[in-house]
Amino acid sequence: TAESAKSFFRRNAFVLFTIVAVLLGIILAFSLRPYQLTYRQIKYFSFPGELLMRMLQMLVLPLIVSSLITGMASLDSRVSGKMGMRAIIYYMVTTIIAVFIGIFMVIIIHPGKGSKDNLHREGRIEQVQTTDAFMDLVRNMFPPNLVEACFKQYSTRVFTRTILHSSNVTAGVTTTQIPVPENFTIIPIPGSANGVNALGLVVFSMCFGLMIGSMKQRGRALREFFNCLNEAIMRLVAIIIWYAPVGIMFLIAGKILEMDDLAVMGGQLGMYTLTVIVGLLIHALCILPLLYFIVTHRNPWLFIAGLLQALITALGTSSSSATLPITFRCLEENNGVDRRITRFVLPVGATINMDGTALYEALAAIFIAQVNNYELDFGQIITISITATAASIGAAGIPQAGLVTMVIVLTSVGLPTEDITLIIAVDWFLDRLRTTTNVLGDSLGAGIVEHLSRHELDLTNVLYPLFSLETA
Ligand code: ASP
Repeated sequence: TAESAKSFFRRNAFVLFTIVAVLLGIILAFSLRPYQLTYRQIKYFSFPGELLMRMLQMLVLPLIVSSLITGMASLDSRVSGKMGMRAIIYYMVTTIIAVFIGIFMVIIIHPGKGSKDNLHREGRIEQVQTTDAFMDLVRNMFPPNLVEACFKQYSTRVFTRTILHSSNVTAGVTTTQIPVPENFTIIPIPGSANGVNALGLVVFSMCFGLMIGSMKQRGRALREFFNCLNEAIMRLVAIIIWYAPVGIMFLIAGKILEMDDLAVMGGQLGMYTLTVIVGLLIHALCILPLLYFIVTHRNPWLFIAGLLQALITALGTSSSSATLPITFRCLEENNGVDRRITRFVLPVGATINMDGTALYEALAAIFIAQVNNYELDFGQIITISITATAASIGAAGIPQAGLVTMVIVLTSVGLPTEDITLIIAVDWFLDRLRTTTNVLGDSLGAGIVEHLSRHELDLTNVLYPLFSLETA
């Protein structure tokens, strides 16, 4: 018991440190804000946070690849098939619920008041065709070059990062008018890089793992290799986790220092922000826990308590893939989820299952329609829900990726893509919240899929002891 008490303290100490760090970060930032630090000073200040981000990102690639390959290689293909189906059904159901909540909230609260006098639809250059975007999604599943997939996603036309950085240039704000940053430009760059093509790597690793599994004994060397790689990476995670509270503190403090004047939050944009927050809260704190409880009959709050570290990391990094290493650790160490499940469900979930993003995109698109006084008919709302789902699948787990894939949703119903500028000012903040929702959705999904697959998992232990993942 002394041993378990110690380990209990250890686990909770981390969460405690992290919470204290977040609070310290907020206090520190607000006490420094009056000094109006320059951009350069803020960058220096948030350097420890940047380091955490880099460390986590460093681990993501080997982690996704090794966990999926070992996960798939160690299960009979029928078992992994069933597990896969369950995971996909869970992703689909929760994403659709999320989209529905988003649409419902924005229609009920109606934060957009039609302040733009007209919708300049003529002469507008279509940035991306919806079909192109759908095709890109599928294209990314089959990267022609695996090495390239490690740092580049295919995209017919992608915004440059300038669009994202322009969130700092918000001009004067009144309650009736939403500011459009002046030096905002949309520069389409063919196939410009925006991070790892996680989708492609996921597809490849899954197929590759399955093949290794089907080779039974002969695949053993590779199975062990990837198993070992996975374990080594997780050991690195265990070290980095000690640094996480410090990193998160500076990430959050840095962001608060960078943030525009809080006046931006007034008026429509404030209502919009509130609508998103309420929608995300309903999904994260009512729907998902309820679903978990209905399926597993276990206490969702205990499960979520074990995830706190991952959720706070998501809040700090606003990237579900950077959070992935911590999510793994929380689920396996704190919640005792079977590794055969996490190794399979988490990397896929972090890549394609983004409830928060889906909710956000549907909501934001309808908000933009409201601001433009543009009446959406039922068919268009259905279109928005389909494209928002696709956009959330296609969004990479990196900061503000959802803002970029919004283009698909907007063009699908003929809304002006330039109007993304309307919501840019608050996106850094909402991004953090939707990322946290994304991570929560993935994690509860792992718990649900584990519960549903428990019989097969027991069975495989008996039938396939050879493939048991436990390493000596
Ligand atoms: N930042 C989000 C994530 O990593 C994606 C998004 O922008 O919605 O999950």
